[in-house]
Amino acid sequence: MDARRVGGRIAAARRTLTGAGAGALPLPVRITNGLAMVSLVLSSCDLLRLCSDPGRPLRFPLGGREFATVVCQLASVVYLLSLFAVPFAQSASGRREEGQDGSRRSPAAVAPAPMPDCPDDGDEEIVAAVVSGELPSHRLESRLRDCRRAARLRREALRRITGRGLEGLPFEGIDYEAILGQCCEMPVGYVQLPVGVAGPLLLDGRDYHVPMATTEGCLVASVNRGCRAIAASGGAFSVLLRDAMSRAPAVKLPSAKRAAELKMFVEAPANFEALAAVFNKSSRFGRLQGIQCALAGRNLYMRFTCSTGDAMGMNMVSKGVENVLGYLRNNFPDMEVISISGNYCSDKKATAVNWIEGRGKSVVCEATIKGRVVQSVLKTTVEKLVELNIIKNLAGSAVAGALGGFNAHASNIVTALFIATGQDPAQNVESSQCITMLEAVNEGKDLHISVTMPSIEVGTIGGGTSLTSQAACLNLLGVKGPNHGSPGANARLLATIVAGSVLAGELSLLAALAAGQLVKSHMKYNRSSKDVANAAS
Ligand code: ADP
Repeated sequence: MDARRVGGRIAAARRTLTGAGAGALPLPVRITNGLAMVSLVLSSCDLLRLCSDPGRPLRFPLGGREFATVVCQLASVVYLLSLFAVPFAQSASGRREEGQDGSRRSPAAVAPAPMPDCPDDGDEEIVAAVVSGELPSHRLESRLRDCRRAARLRREALRRITGRGLEGLPFEGIDYEAILGQCCEMPVGYVQLPVGVAGPLLLDGRDYHVPMATTEGCLVASVNRGCRAIAASGGAFSVLLRDAMSRAPAVKLPSAKRAAELKMFVEAPANFEALAAVFNKSSRFGRLQGIQCALAGRNLYMRFTCSTGDAMGMNMVSKGVENVLGYLRNNFPDMEVISISGNYCSDKKATAVNWIEGRGKSVVCEATIKGRVVQSVLKTTVEKLVELNIIKNLAGSAVAGALGGFNAHASNIVTALFIATGQDPAQNVESSQCITMLEAVNEGKDLHISVTMPSIEVGTIGGGTSLTSQAACLNLLGVKGPNHGSPGANARLLATIVAGSVLAGELSLLAALAAGQLVKSHMKYNRSSKDVANAAS
């Protein structure tokens, strides 16, 4: 055992003592350690001297001084041995508790565990520096040039600072290098989410198995039932109406008149080509489609829209906008840029501008569900479904003052699919805007259902899409990464799959409500530990 390892064990023991057991010691650990060492050395010297002195042989009963020496010796040996024994015992019991049998433990019963694996050389010093604040936690990656080690030491520092363990938060199983500069700063682990698969969804003549990351029992089963009804009726069909990401900077001018002049300049068809040439320099894929302006006094909001290939495109459009702002300064040197985003974009907010103009991909998806399928799979009638949709999704949402929320639960499906496929889950706000329409057709026998979703913001490259598990879900749908033959085709296909899945979800939930089954099925799927496979009928 080398000196570093001994140092590590003593430090581990100290951690143990300063953590759980510190309150039991009357003196600071450093002092008790020192006293034990001094006591051991002095009593050992005294014992050696007594043993080697033929004039004063050690024999029982011991005299007062001999007795004190032996007690000091024993006490210091026991104390120092405990420094080594406690961490050994704790790590052994920790291994047992990790549950090789997969059994669950109550978090409260778990003592904070030390670093996940054997400390590397210098780990102890680095963790101590983070704990003391000498080394900022966010510098670990650049300092160590090893993202996994940085995350491991950050986690250990966090454990010491808070006194709380992170045992339930997995550490192994994610590529920390892939996260850096792309997905997450200062990682300490990752959160587990179950991924279910609904389908096949028969959409535009092809079958898709739809991955959904969710913790809401019933959701995947419900979408699965909707997919069955759609497939049994010949499938769903989608149309992509528009494909344009937007960014709207806010700029200030000396007067409303000047702001209006800038609006005229930017919106003049004669200037579009020049502005587009400047905008398009930023990327091979970003292509300016238009600029729509709005004024608030002397502030001007310019909503740039552009195609972005297979990327969701926020970075791409922002870079193009920056180029154009630089160019506009030539003619409007009195223009002050307040912010590259002035909220008229609108990103991650429920707004009318997205609902009316669209953002990302605008998709309509429809299906005609046969009357017999409504009866056999959805356990309700066409008439009841149509009436429910009017009263709930249209009138009810109008009464509530909804902004694009004329649907039963589009956000449920959008969010689960977004998380599974590495989209930005916060964009579910506008991506879930949806109006669901139901009509009786074919003399009232069959049901026509459609979802219209103007702002589905998805990409198959960039952001979280390259992470291993998210890329696997994109791969399952056949839309992983960029489409080299036809840039943008993968992202557009993903948007139609989102709309198709929403269609399935709407159909199934509305049917459950019409048949009065909602609470019953939630009890079955959310509360039961029984096998749910039998229940998806
Ligand atoms: P976003 O704009 O969605 O935030 P990024 O900033 O990561 O995404 O941009 C996507 C990157 O991927 C760009 O650098 C772009 O040049 C590159 N790329 C490669 N192939 C494609 C493609 N088919 N569509 C879009 N971007 C692509």
